[in-house]
Amino acid sequence: MKFGTKAIHAGQEPDPSTGAIMTPIYQTSTYWQKSPGDNKGFEYSRGTNPTRKALESCLAALENAKHGLAFSSGMGATDAVMKLLSPGDEVITGDDLYGGTYRMFTKIFANYGIKFHFINMNDAQNVKQYINQNTKMIWIETPTNPTMQIVDIEAVSAISKVNNILLTVDNTFASPYLQNPIDLGADIVMHSVTKYLGGHSDVVMGALMLNDDDLYKRLWFIYNACGATPGPMDSFLVLRGLKTLHLRMKAHCENGRQIAEYLKTHPKVDKIYWPGFTDHPNHNIAKKQMRDFGGMISITLKGADLKETFRIASSFKVFSLAESLGGVESLINHPVTMTHGSIPKSERDKVGVTDNLLRLSVGVEDIEDLLDDLKQALS
Ligand SMILES: *Cc1c(COP(=O)(O)O)cnc(C)c1O
Repeated sequence: MKFGTKAIHAGQEPDPSTGAIMTPIYQTSTYWQKSPGDNKGFEYSRGTNPTRKALESCLAALENAKHGLAFSSGMGATDAVMKLLSPGDEVITGDDLYGGTYRMFTKIFANYGIKFHFINMNDAQNVKQYINQNTKMIWIETPTNPTMQIVDIEAVSAISKVNNILLTVDNTFASPYLQNPIDLGADIVMHSVTKYLGGHSDVVMGALMLNDDDLYKRLWFIYNACGATPGPMDSFLVLRGLKTLHLRMKAHCENGRQIAEYLKTHPKVDKIYWPGFTDHPNHNIAKKQMRDFGGMISITLKGADLKETFRIASSFKVFSLAESLGGVESLINHPVTMTHGSIPKSERDKVGVTDNLLRLSVGVEDIEDLLDDLKQALS
């Protein structure tokens, strides 16, 4: 089945009791057992729920994976992956991570004896020098947030396989419509479903997709034992959102391209970060591993201090100043004070997350209105 058909149908069948086309919201915590252990595969909703199960099958199908697990947030999904590790283990990860991931690694798991190397991954070969016998996981984000660097998934996975290291890819920014890390050799794909997959800024959710049966069993154990699993109502909302994922992504990419081109020559814009430009440092890798370049764009404002950046960030009328991304509505975000506030300034400066940086999540509104809004806000 092709992508759009899977987005609409995978994991879903007419409800056996009524024929309902849409998977019902099974709003129940527990299930009747005829005699102890004699049930229909559902015992308690922390571990299994039919609405969530349909969603997990659909999510797995979209990443060409065998298994899917939904979590009550993206961070809940990341937390479960990190719990595969033990004290003394080491993780190699990027130096331009989502702020919440950086915070979890440095403030939670570092205290449990796990060591993290935050490195530049623009050249995948750079990973090799940080590998030792304790290295158990490589964690990458691509495109990175917010500077849209591209990491070569296939090249990193070749290194992880030779060294028997698990490779997890946070695929939130690309979405499965643009990129499928498992096809490129990743072991686990992580998503903040809150973003493009949900797509309507109305749910917080996370997910993991993977192929290996044993790894799935280990992760399912953590998922059920620790309990960061989403409820049936949220699962339903995401199932509904997924049905238009391919249509939304197409529109995000089209609008993103036009806005990136408009901003590239704008006199108020200094740097622009978008992997679709041929002069982006890893454009060729983006072209190789992504189907299109998405609607996430970051810019720095020429000569703007924090005050001027705030003034511009607050003057949009169609774009909303808000955290998050990937919804149908266009958002603008100031990473230094919003999404990346938990990363120290010294670390932010290294990767170019400066006071005058703004990140756009281009939505699917009419392009004329978005361009007009940028024009007035940057005037
Ligand atoms: C939002 C986000 C997360 C965290 O997901 P939540 O659903 O907010 O918990 C992780 N990684 C990336 C790239 C994100 O954008």
